[in-house]
Amino acid sequence: MEMSDLRSLPSVDQLLQAEPISHWIEQFGRPLVVDALREALASARSAVQSGRPLAPRVSLLENAHQRLEAWLTPTLRPVINASGVVLHTNLGRAPLSRAALDAVQQAAAGYCTLEYELVRGSRGSRSAHAEALLIRLTGAQAALVVNNNAAAVLLALTALARRKRVIVSRTQLVEIGGGFRVPEVMAQSGARLVEVGATNRVHLSDYQNALAEPAALILHAHSSNFRIIGFTSEPALNEIAALAHQAGILFVDDLGSGALRDTARYGLAHEPTVQESLAAGSDLVCFSGDKLLGGPQAGILVGQADLIARIKKHPLARAVRADKLCLAALSATLVHYLKDEAEREIPIWRFIAQTPQQLGERAARWAAELGQGEVIEGRSTVGGGSLPEETLPTRLLALPARQPNAVLARLRRADPPVIAYIENDRVLLDPRTVLPEQETALLEALRAALAG
Ligand SMILES: *Cc1c(COP(=O)(O)O)cnc(C)c1O
Repeated sequence: MEMSDLRSLPSVDQLLQAEPISHWIEQFGRPLVVDALREALASARSAVQSGRPLAPRVSLLENAHQRLEAWLTPTLRPVINASGVVLHTNLGRAPLSRAALDAVQQAAAGYCTLEYELVRGSRGSRSAHAEALLIRLTGAQAALVVNNNAAAVLLALTALARRKRVIVSRTQLVEIGGGFRVPEVMAQSGARLVEVGATNRVHLSDYQNALAEPAALILHAHSSNFRIIGFTSEPALNEIAALAHQAGILFVDDLGSGALRDTARYGLAHEPTVQESLAAGSDLVCFSGDKLLGGPQAGILVGQADLIARIKKHPLARAVRADKLCLAALSATLVHYLKDEAEREIPIWRFIAQTPQQLGERAARWAAELGQGEVIEGRSTVGGGSLPEETLPTRLLALPARQPNAVLARLRRADPPVIAYIENDRVLLDPRTVLPEQETALLEALRAALAG
């Protein structure tokens, strides 16, 4: 019985003669179709061997087709972010401005002057592109762009402090998420971590005591995604920098988010800016391109010319260098700051700047179009390891649902998927992070999800 069932399974060659196959080959290419048929046959064979009845030929083909679809459906897909988290690391952090998108497209579609100097007609430097803009914006002597900020910190410590002591406060030994832990990055760089202070408090004298033995630098790391409250204290940045300089060593600041504009304008806590860190005496400042800068994933180092030159020469710099798409997007994003049009042009600043009233109008419009739901008060968050606990007042569309989890799951299956959240058994959507051009698709997904 089993054997005869196995023998009656068609061969790949027989299946290739089936009616829809020539069409599939056109659509998916022959090698992939053959693979799918083989795998469908193998699974039918093992089903028969485990005692299940032989599936009809159409279901074999169906199985193969599902495999083809599954293999080719991209896993990296655009989504509608209705979570209200502006810099959502899991959803790709900062959407790019129109100009940054155009710059990426142009750099990607053809050849470009990535490392080519047009006037002399000879080899140029890829680091030239964003660096002049960064220097002008921050007032630093020099700049370097690498793949991300984790790489920037690793590179700086490796180039400047390998086998040497690096002093860091216990208040700053943070895990940022995604496996970035300050102590582990330091260990990886070969620098020797010297912890000072306590978890909640560090004094200038703690740093001073650690300087009794020679060190390469004092590292300051932004505590990013957490906040110590209660009995706390830390010396001001300029005091630590001055102490480092008295001892003849460097002061390096890992700013994390690296805002170029003041977040306090929007009722948020003040996030230290790159310019402030440099003014306080940092010799080197590291920050991300895709956090509060609102650009592509990048790690940016700005600071003293001799330090940047040393870092550039380190072999690791080559391994973590930025690519042309990153440099194109970053340069275009920086231009928005230079032209003082960041709030208008850079999506994350536009999102942050929206007023509760504007957000309420959008949410009300959605409720009206759906014929259900109500507008309630809520809070959006900045995210991206910046401004922990800081929220922005928003207005949410609240949808009552008997099974809110089922509605969320249906929204995630929409095309494009919609990311919403639940509070008090209601499905909540924050207009702040929904791009205006996504609203039609959002409403369509909501209608379908609510209809069940
Ligand atoms: C986010 C962050 C990093 C890592 O930056 P990526 O660009 O995500 O690699 C490093 N340090 C601090 C303080 C951060 O906030």
